[in-house]
Amino acid sequence: MGTEPQRLHVVFFPLMAAGHMIPTLDIAKLFAAHHVKTTIVTTPLNAPTFLKPLQSYTNIGPPIDVQVIPFPAKEAGLPEGVENFEHFTSDEMSLKFLKAAELLEEPLIQVLERCNPKADCLVADMLLPFATEVAAKFDIPRLVFHGSCCFALSVMDAFIKYQPHKDVSNDDEEFVIPHLPHEIKITRMQLNEGVKQNKQDTMWMDVLGRALESEIKSYGVIVNSFYELEPEYADFYRKVMGRKTWQIGPVSLCNRENEAKFQRGKDSSIDENACLKWLDSKKPNSVIYVCFGSLTEVSLLQLHEIAKGLEASEQNFVWVIRRSNTNGEETEDIFPKGFEERTKGKGLIIRGWAPQVLILDHEAVGGFVTHCGWNSTLEGISCGVPMVTWPAFAEQFYIEKLVTEILKTGIPVGSKHWNRTIECNVKWEDIKEVVRRLMVEEEGMEIRSRALKLKNMARKAIDEGGSSYVELTSLIQELSNCKLNSNGF
Ligand code: UDP
Repeated sequence: MGTEPQRLHVVFFPLMAAGHMIPTLDIAKLFAAHHVKTTIVTTPLNAPTFLKPLQSYTNIGPPIDVQVIPFPAKEAGLPEGVENFEHFTSDEMSLKFLKAAELLEEPLIQVLERCNPKADCLVADMLLPFATEVAAKFDIPRLVFHGSCCFALSVMDAFIKYQPHKDVSNDDEEFVIPHLPHEIKITRMQLNEGVKQNKQDTMWMDVLGRALESEIKSYGVIVNSFYELEPEYADFYRKVMGRKTWQIGPVSLCNRENEAKFQRGKDSSIDENACLKWLDSKKPNSVIYVCFGSLTEVSLLQLHEIAKGLEASEQNFVWVIRRSNTNGEETEDIFPKGFEERTKGKGLIIRGWAPQVLILDHEAVGGFVTHCGWNSTLEGISCGVPMVTWPAFAEQFYIEKLVTEILKTGIPVGSKHWNRTIECNVKWEDIKEVVRRLMVEEEGMEIRSRALKLKNMARKAIDEGGSSYVELTSLIQELSNCKLNSNGF
């Protein structure tokens, strides 16, 4: 009697940031739904992001394990308790974090040694460049997960290869990013300091160089998007950049029940029922949702302008304000005098963490003011919600171009400066105008109908037989073949 080959076992090691850990858990759920055993490796303070939603996760496939390894904060010179990008308050801290990340190689090896059944594939973040060699030690493929889309990855590659920003004389002069399928223009102000001045910190350059090298040597790349969303860039990434790629998203759509949507990420600052009750009381497409993700800061002055703009737009709104935005100040100082009373019933303010996908997926929500983090953008797309784009840093200015110029499902607010903290650059009058253009004017209706088409495409992609479903199953098949070959079958 032949023995049944053991189930495929995939180990995930995401970067310690909400925008990487949240989609990783969704990806693990998608693999589990195909009867693949999955293990997620993380550090103590990041573990609840996985463990909490898994408590109520009713397994449709084999269990998702979480392996917790110590985080070497002290060794890297970081204060105790700093284990996530969210905690960084300076560039120096992120450099120390990279140092700490390098020290995670040995604990990762130990996890793989302990794996039972043995691991068959390691999916690790790009900023963990040692992962390709670690996987090679165990004779298993390493896949990279960037947390971004083919469009942004192609733009980043164009900057590395052609350095188009070097040929312009002013920071506010638009220039074309060369050799891309579309004519995309940007200014140097919208690039980070390092790229702008061609003097990246040497440690960053070193890590990025090694990350790129390890990506090129890796087995391939998992991308959280779907082919029909960015076909030219999916082809470009595969054919021109030469990456073997599987687009398996939008991964957030694996959360079909309200409870699963509610539990994504951190503990919500609002009760699920209270949130749904508030949204249920509003007409379809009458609420604009405002959220800048898990890392972007907003200055007090800019918060004031947003409050005035929202009030003047006369639209219902849900506005998420991260606690660190307040710098410990009382809310009275955040808002113009009397703002909360005047907008009572019209506005729902969530201080802290919002159940974003639950909110975006509600029919009352008809617009999304977003910082263009890739997850938020794709979640908005998956829910058919048109956007006001307000990029701050990272690759967000690139993603804004995808949304406003290629997909044409958003209107830019007019953000011009790359900075993790949104200073007071956009005035309340402009916020009011852009919100009204999206929510009440003819232009907004056209954008909405395009957004709805994308929503349907996104859902089709993930359903049985759809493009992402097919790419995921073919990846699983390929990994199973690798396993059989390495077992000498
Ligand atoms: N998110 C959330 N509630 C919040 C803030 C963020 O659920 O209050 C989630 C959001 O749904 C997304 C992730 O956190 O999945 C943020 O990732 P993104 O790439 O959009 O932005 P980042 O935080 O990395 O800038």
